[in-house]
Amino acid sequence: MAPRLEFRNVTKRFPNKLNGAAKLDGADPFITAVRGVNFRVSDGEVVSLIGPSGCGKSTLLNMGSGLDRPSDGEVFVDGERVEKPNPHVAFMLQKDLLLPWRTIRENVEFGLEIQGIAADERRVRSDELLRKCRLTDFAGHYPHQLSGGMRQRAALARTLAVNPTVLLMDEPFSALDAQTKMILQQDLGRTLKETGKTALFITHDLVEAIALSDRVLVMSERPGQIVEELTVDLPGRGDPMTRRQHSGMGQFVPKLMSLLHLSDMTH
Ligand code: ADP
Ligand code: MG
Repeated sequence: MAPRLEFRNVTKRFPNKLNGAAKLDGADPFITAVRGVNFRVSDGEVVSLIGPSGCGKSTLLNMGSGLDRPSDGEVFVDGERVEKPNPHVAFMLQKDLLLPWRTIRENVEFGLEIQGIAADERRVRSDELLRKCRLTDFAGHYPHQLSGGMRQRAALARTLAVNPTVLLMDEPFSALDAQTKMILQQDLGRTLKETGKTALFITHDLVEAIALSDRVLVMSERPGQIVEELTVDLPGRGDPMTRRQHSGMGQFVPKLMSLLHLSDMTH
């Protein structure tokens, strides 16, 4: 079976906004964000991407979603080259992107409205997702009336409403406090498992990466390349709260710290 998501030899360069002196100096007119990135995510798999800030993680996600194009190489979803946004690929960001003038239910139904789904069917789908994301009592509230964690749960419900096959998530929980984050990780882990979705998850939280994923891909400094791939062979991918408490968790954090050269920073 074709992988759900595949990056094949992907390089991305951006124009380097040079000032006059640097231009005269003959400095590189391009910034290479990522170089020669290859990886696959198969059906139902959850893969995390970690790496130093500025190494090109968001750039990769943008190319996966079709919002941006590689300079070289290709991205495929279900064997088809990504050339524009694909309705089967959903995006979730740190900022929840809820529409402030719509209630939570109306936000959850937004994508379905765009797809032209009838009102009664939308209602059935939003009821189920609001329940799954524990927001039933807040269906009629507006985003500003909810806590950050609840808003991210609403964003998750909205992302799932259009029934995507691939979820791309760019540090969706990084603005939340530590405990709220754990609760949302639990919601997400369980939901991904139950629905069998395929996901690529960017985070700078190493424990989060291990708790939620089947595999962790480690990137180098810019130009970002994948320098290591770690298989998380622990039980409980659908139950991150339990996985966090697993004795095997302990071995992974130092391994990732060393791959990111964080362990070199002690005296
Ligand atoms: P990360 O998400 O890993 O922190 P990004 O993918 O946001 O990193 O950025 C990688 C590099 O590409 C950075 O050096 C950034 O400045 C550069 N970059 C990202 N987007 C653009 C853009 N639209 N134009 C120019 N440079 C960009
Ligand atoms: Mg980023």
